Formats: sequence, C-alpha cells, structure tokens
Amino acid sequence: MRRVCVYCGSSPGRGDGYRTLARSMGAALAERGLGLVYGGASIGLMGEAADAALAGGTEVIGIIPTVVQDREVAHTGLTQLICVNTMHERKTLMAERADAFVAMPGGLGTLEELFEILTWAQLGMHDKPVGLLNGEGYFDGLVAFLDHCVAEELIQPRHRALLRVANDPATLLDQLAASGELG
Ligand code: AMP
Repeated sequence: MRRVCVYCGSSPGRGDGYRTLARSMGAALAERGLGLVYGGASIGLMGEAADAALAGGTEVIGIIPTVVQDREVAHTGLTQLICVNTMHERKTLMAERADAFVAMPGGLGTLEELFEILTWAQLGMHDKPVGLLNGEGYFDGLVAFLDHCVAEELIQPRHRALLRVANDPATLLDQLAASGELG
C-alpha cells in the first residue's frame, strides 16, 4: 500500500476547526486505502489524524525520537511505532517510508519539516509530491509570502510549483495522485 507522510501540529490549535481538519485528513487517507506515516504522537493534531486513519482501517506508522517520547506521548495503538534516537533520523525515515508529503496546520516543527522536504525536492534529492493543506485559511499568509519570494526572484517559479496547495484533504490528495506518485 502507498503511504502519505503528514506533518502537523503537536498542539490542537484554537477552537475545533483544526482538529476537525486533522480528522478529515486521516479519514480521507483511509478512504483511499493510503497509509499514514507521521511523528508517532498521541497529542494535538498529530493524534487526531492518526486516530481517524486508524478508525478508517488503514495502516498508520509512527516514527518518534526517544527524546520527545514522553512530551509528545507516543501513540500506543498504531500499526507500527518506530523509536529512533534523533529528530534527523525521524525525518529521514518518514521521508523514506512515504510516497508523498502533506503539511497541515502546525507550529515550528511542522514548518521546519515542510521546508526541509521542499528543499530536498528543490535539490533533486527526491521527486515525491509535497502538498500544503490550507484549511481554515491557516497558511494564507505563508502562501502569499512564497508568491512574494517568487516576485522578488529569490524562489524560482518551478520550485514554488513544487508545493501544491488545497483547502480540503480530498482535493489535495487528488492533486498529489495526479502528479503520478500515488495514482
Ligand atoms: P509543532 O508543529 O511545533 O507542534 O511540532 C510538530 C512535530 O514536529 C512534533 O512532533 C515535533 O517533535 C516535531 N519537530 C519539531 N522540531 C523538529 C525537528 N527539528 N525535526 C523533526 N521533527 C521536529
């Protein structure tokens, strides 16, 4: 089965909107028979996405470094929980195990993961599609900033185009599938 790596917050975010979005992402993966690869936490939006994917009956692989295992409360109900030593090992393994990447609303960790996987694509280190799930308009400012970077000629249009953006999980997964990797 093909798998999607989802980066998202270890916090739930304000209100219910982000939690609902994370659950709908997990459910959309399961509906398509796609496995989830993520950071292995049971808390925040990470936990919501994992729970929804598991409830939908799909495979969920969590990859968690021992240093954050307590803080992020490692999920004990996953198909597979892989404990690693460092954040770098986590990101490498997440990248290896997945066929596509989705960043959902999250904080610094999520942003760091998104930009690392995008810069790896820019350098030609992988050709797996990367998507941004802009639910609740959370990333409106970021998307506008990336377009500003292109206008200022500091990001090439073809590199900006590496990031597909959609407001809902189904549309985003369709876009990623259309790029060939998940089709
Ligand atoms: P956040 O978006 O800050 O809530 O964090 C989301 C996830 O990213 C959490 O599981 C963090 O442990 C993880 N994270 C934060 N910084 C890094 C990093 N440098 N490398 C890998 N994962 C990270």
